[in-house]
Amino acid sequence: MATQTKDYYSTLGVKKAATSDEIRKAFRKLARKYHPDVNPNDKKAEEKFKEISEANDVLSDEKKRKIYDQLGFYSDNIDPAAAEAAARGGYGGGGFPGGFPGGASPRPGSRGGQEVPFDFDGFDFSGFQGGTRERAQEPSGGGFGGSFKDIFGGIFSGGQKARGPQPGTDLEYQVSVDFWAAVRGGVARLEIQRQETCPACKGKSTTGGSIECPECHGTGQVTQMGGRMKFNIQCPRCGGTGKIQNVCATCDGEGVVTRREPLEFRIKPGTRDSQRIRLAGKGNAGTEGGAPGDLFLIIKVGTHPVFARVGDDIHVTVPVTVAEAALGAKIDVPTIDTHDGGGRTQLKIPPGTQTGQKLRLREKGVPSASREGVRGDEIVEVKIVVPKVQDERSKEILRELAKLNPEDPRAELLAEV
Ligand SMILES: [Zn+2]
Ligand SMILES: [Zn+2]
Repeated sequence: MATQTKDYYSTLGVKKAATSDEIRKAFRKLARKYHPDVNPNDKKAEEKFKEISEANDVLSDEKKRKIYDQLGFYSDNIDPAAAEAAARGGYGGGGFPGGFPGGASPRPGSRGGQEVPFDFDGFDFSGFQGGTRERAQEPSGGGFGGSFKDIFGGIFSGGQKARGPQPGTDLEYQVSVDFWAAVRGGVARLEIQRQETCPACKGKSTTGGSIECPECHGTGQVTQMGGRMKFNIQCPRCGGTGKIQNVCATCDGEGVVTRREPLEFRIKPGTRDSQRIRLAGKGNAGTEGGAPGDLFLIIKVGTHPVFARVGDDIHVTVPVTVAEAALGAKIDVPTIDTHDGGGRTQLKIPPGTQTGQKLRLREKGVPSASREGVRGDEIVEVKIVVPKVQDERSKEILRELAKLNPEDPRAELLAEV
């Protein structure tokens, strides 16, 4: 005999005398906390949510709650009149709910109940009716997520994992790509771990065929005690069929198996740091024909000792002598381009260039990954290098230069304070 005694009141954390309003509030509070949307992939939260939903389904319905209060359990198959009769018997037998001494079973049917004097203690009929009226006035469900049956009906009515197609979840991997591969494009390789459709059951969680339901041993019915009466109710595990589908041994009924697999994918020229690449359908497999999730690759672009990337622009700092900066010059600067001139190009330094000044080389940056034919620029920052003079002749020339150019470079600065 299977007994399924669940304390719905403690599940919702309310007193047995709780009003329907208190029950509704307690459920909504817990549901917000344990809702699967708030706790993705959290099996414990899912279980908890099922429990509170089941408790709410029964306790929020005055008729169901009455039967539950009378019998200590609830089943759709139980006629309210039978529950009442059982409860009356139960009171006389001393102890409720489910408190028949020693667990001995009186014969189901009329005799067991009728031997006990009628006793209406504990039945508050006015409350029952009042409750019904009250409930009828307020919108049912309170707008939160539907009833227990709506959400989990599939699981509990059949007692099997008959959830139907479930989409696979998305996967996200961070991929390190070196500076040049991101600029010029290339192929990246990595190993990912993903859930694949189980090859044994093709994602159905069962390899077909059925086995005897272990709950009811194939009878399709389980017996529960209600007061002094026994009730045969439909087996919740197999839905009364007496059979359940076997569970696939390869995937343990999950419908998917976890596999590591190598992955190769193309990096577009101009790929940027933190860019997300979506590989549709490469996420976890769905079950029972559900669509697979997507695989997202987050690109982490490596650095370069000379070049710095800012979007599609390349920044580079180039040392320039005092003479080149003062007189102007044509100097070679490094570029990311290896096609013309072996990674360098000529840059004209205008006379009188100051340190920190930025010069732009148009379209010498990174080709845009998003806009065809568009390239960024190279920004050259000038850094003037002062000669470390050792010989008298050089010092002489510098002193002479200073005499010829007596302006104080700090004059403006000092005038400001
Ligand atoms: Zn399988
Ligand atoms: Zn069964």
